[in-house]
Amino acid sequence: MASDASPKPAKRALLDLTFAALERELVVGGLRPAHAKTLWRALHRDLAADLADQSEFLPPLRRWVMEQVGSDRTFTLRFPEVIGEILSSDQLTRKLLLRLSDGQTVETVVMGFTGRETACVSTQAGCVMGCVFCATGQMGFVRHLAPGEIVAQVRQAQIAAKTSGKSGLRNLVLMGMGEPLHNYDAVMTALEIVCHPRGLGLAPGHITISTVGVVPGILRLAAEQRPYHLAVSLHGATDEERTALVPIGRRWPLVELMAACRTYTRQTGRRIFFEWTLIAGTNDSPEHAGRLAVLLGGIESQVNLIPLNPTDGYVGSATRKGTAQAFQHVLRAAGIPSTLRQRRGIDVAAGCGQLRADRANADAKSPGAPLAFQD
Ligand code: SF4
Repeated sequence: MASDASPKPAKRALLDLTFAALERELVVGGLRPAHAKTLWRALHRDLAADLADQSEFLPPLRRWVMEQVGSDRTFTLRFPEVIGEILSSDQLTRKLLLRLSDGQTVETVVMGFTGRETACVSTQAGCVMGCVFCATGQMGFVRHLAPGEIVAQVRQAQIAAKTSGKSGLRNLVLMGMGEPLHNYDAVMTALEIVCHPRGLGLAPGHITISTVGVVPGILRLAAEQRPYHLAVSLHGATDEERTALVPIGRRWPLVELMAACRTYTRQTGRRIFFEWTLIAGTNDSPEHAGRLAVLLGGIESQVNLIPLNPTDGYVGSATRKGTAQAFQHVLRAAGIPSTLRQRRGIDVAAGCGQLRADRANADAKSPGAPLAFQD
């Protein structure tokens, strides 16, 4: 017998909503838009885990929350579960492994080594880009994260920062698991939410989006005049050398990528951070540095040199300090500013995806056994 029941509309995550969208939902529900400020503050500034017992909610808002969220009728409010947490030996890097509502796990890192807390969040479960030295790339792509799942990580990082006695997050980098520009719309919505001044209130100028070179995304950032910083991972200054490390370089070769970078700097007036993972004997010679200097000629840039974080799936090792300094010397002589990152957090599996991979390995060897996390 045919059923005449119309399909139930899908429930939406409350954390996916921008402030304007939340206001609209409340108005549709018969409330004054002013209630959105109260609800937004509870969610995104006070970081309330439960909206059922908020004394500052007026009766109409309480009723709306109870009816629309409390019973999961229209909206859901779920936070990822922290299933792993490790602290680096210098106590400055805290890495969280979060389980999302469908069981997928992602990593969020809180770093305090500049004296100002920085969160590094994931934008996808897994990654399709396949960078050979990256633990996330080695696991393949699973799915995009929704805006609220990215917001929830920032929220969790803020809680972690405040719990450890810090004043809160100042910087946000999208350099965790996944390629942010492959999940462009969700990432932009999430950033709009975390920058809202009535909520987490992060400054757009303190946010950096990292890409492995997704050209359409770079051009879109420029055309839309997005107010965030951009970091582009290069790792090689010829297509042959780059694609050996970053296979997606075949889709967007360097000539296209650098043209997009030039367009970006011209249209936004902002310099680009270029990331270069230093791998011993692979891309760390003075000749490699010379080719990089030529490639970046005429672009407002800053190069971040990062010693490789070892992963199980890649045999390369990190460049030694003296070699890295020689590389940096070539860039300096060419007038290209650079920083040489320290291998911080290496004892907390600092490269993206490493904690998740370690956890999966541990579970495979001994299902249910926790990793030996520190407090
Ligand atoms: S380095 Fe970034 S873009 Fe490359 S595979 Fe890993 S997560 Fe993806």
